Amino acid sequence: MNFDILVVGGGPAGLTSAIKLAQLAKKNKKELNICVVEKGSEIGAHILSGAVLETKALDELIPDWKSKDSPIKIEAKKDNFLLLTKNKSFRLPTPPQMKNRDNYIISLGNLCRWLAKQAEELNINIFPGFSATEVLFDEKGNKVIGIRTGDQGIDKDGKQLENYQQGYDLLAKQTIFAEGCHGSLTKKLIKKYDLRKNSDPQTYAIGLKELWEIKPENHKLGEVIHSVGWPLDNQTYGGSFIYFLENNQVSIGFVIGLDYKNPYLSPFDEFQRFKTHPKIKKIFEGGKRISYGARALNEGGFQSIPKLTVPGGLLVGCTAGFMNVPKIKGTHLAMKSGIIAAEQIFKNLSTSSPPVEIESYEIELKKSWVWDELYKVRNIRPSFQWGFWPGLIYSAVDTFVFRGKAPWTLKHHEDYKTLKEAENSKVIEYPKPDGIITFDKLSSVFISNTNHNENQPCHLQIKDDKIPIEYNLKNYDAPEQRYCPAGVYEIVRIGETKEPKLQINAQNCVHCKTCDIKDPSQNINWTPPQGGEGPKYPNM
Ligand SMILES: Cc1cc2nc3c(=O)[nH]c(=O)nc-3n(C[C@H](O)[C@H](O)[C@H](O)COP(=O)(O)OP(=O)(O)OC[C@H]3O[C@@H](n4cnc5c(N)ncnc54)[C@H](O)[C@@H]3O)c2cc1C
Ligand code: SF4
Repeated sequence: MNFDILVVGGGPAGLTSAIKLAQLAKKNKKELNICVVEKGSEIGAHILSGAVLETKALDELIPDWKSKDSPIKIEAKKDNFLLLTKNKSFRLPTPPQMKNRDNYIISLGNLCRWLAKQAEELNINIFPGFSATEVLFDEKGNKVIGIRTGDQGIDKDGKQLENYQQGYDLLAKQTIFAEGCHGSLTKKLIKKYDLRKNSDPQTYAIGLKELWEIKPENHKLGEVIHSVGWPLDNQTYGGSFIYFLENNQVSIGFVIGLDYKNPYLSPFDEFQRFKTHPKIKKIFEGGKRISYGARALNEGGFQSIPKLTVPGGLLVGCTAGFMNVPKIKGTHLAMKSGIIAAEQIFKNLSTSSPPVEIESYEIELKKSWVWDELYKVRNIRPSFQWGFWPGLIYSAVDTFVFRGKAPWTLKHHEDYKTLKEAENSKVIEYPKPDGIITFDKLSSVFISNTNHNENQPCHLQIKDDKIPIEYNLKNYDAPEQRYCPAGVYEIVRIGETKEPKLQINAQNCVHCKTCDIKDPSQNINWTPPQGGEGPKYPNM
């Protein structure tokens, strides 16, 4: 199938690029055939975010969004920034980046569903339930010409089943990669075209989130709470967010930098333990948990942005790494990068001999507020490599004295290199879940509505079968058992010899991508499973 423009990923970045292109085509009375492919069963099914939205980019894309029945209704009213110790909490002044005046508390999944509706009104073709599994290149192998969607109906040994359906080749003049944080096709492009030649490695965090409905008397519509400190130690970067939405709902989440060092740390259990803090627990008592999920997010910022274009394609949103970590916000940057990409593609395709590579996208992006915003906060996240208090003090100096213009730029390192060996690390004992405020992984995955057909090739590819036991278990006590937020990886000891073996419960995978990032020997390759599988998040 041929299109003018193909977009991989129906998140805010992908949908924004598609909408902007269609708006430009309509304004200039041109025909543009635009297609968006999305691996979730519907738009929004794989979207997980906080989320507090800064509307700057949306105001530009759809200036009259307020009159279009958008799901952006709850104004952020009050910010609380807390430092937690085990039993106490101290209110700190809210850092300027974390002030949310004029922002809105939203469900990003619902915003994407609404954006998809706007896109369809502009005749954009949206194909949910299709995973882009391969990038297609021209005969010389230099230029991206589109993508291939995954085959359906192949059994776990690679044989075709009765319901076999071959994937589609979707071809386009330009392909926009908008896969979100650590995109699987983007990973291949970065390698093939050496897009990180002039940038730092990307660094990441894992974000875990639950949606609750709480007692009306505990609900404070529009309030925003962020916390740092307990239960994390001073060497581990992270914190929590609690956002009070409509209908007595609350988003609660916990974010942990994937440069953590202790292989015994379990992000999921830290999150559960956080909810037992007296200040936090009382909000949720008598409430009901509605949904659960997890997703990696970028933390590298300015210095980790790769080259953004290749012949025939470009990167937008979080797959490129546009995330303002001190703000914990990336949606406005994802959308603005989508707008700039669309403008440059449209401008270039309208010329008599369009260039193969839309290099002006990167030039224009670097002139925009996206670049200024990321530049100003570039030293904050890496300063926490020195520990919590030095990082906090440095960040205050960088913000208030240097105003983001310090004459140096701190470096980032790969997250998979940071684990200490198990024998040099402290075992962490986590309390058992009570089933009321705290839960186990399996009951959590259950409410993410995650599903994968078991009879298909495993989408979690282990490059070397020996490494999980002979290297990971031996040196790090198999950290994949703990960093995976869905209990996908288990060390089992069966048979007479009780030899340890890695069992992969791939059907539970919530597509967070943490294993692909944190595995200490980079032995796990996350690939998209059959389209339409994975979580089915409601309003996450
Ligand atoms: C826990 C957490 C809290 C956050 N809080 C906030 C916040 O409060 N405010 C804020 O502004 N930002 C926040 N962010 C960041 C924000 O969610 C991202 O910046 C934003 O979602 C990026 O948009 P995107 O379109 O680039 O990627 P995504 O939103 O990740 O969308 C990518 C889409 O592409 C699809 N896809 C991926 N690969 C393929 C493929 N190969 N084939 C087909 N489809 C594919 C995915 O299924 C997904 O639907 C948070 C993130 C997390 C994880
Ligand atoms: S298997 Fe990997 S991508 Fe899937 S939930 Fe676990 S860590 Fe995340």
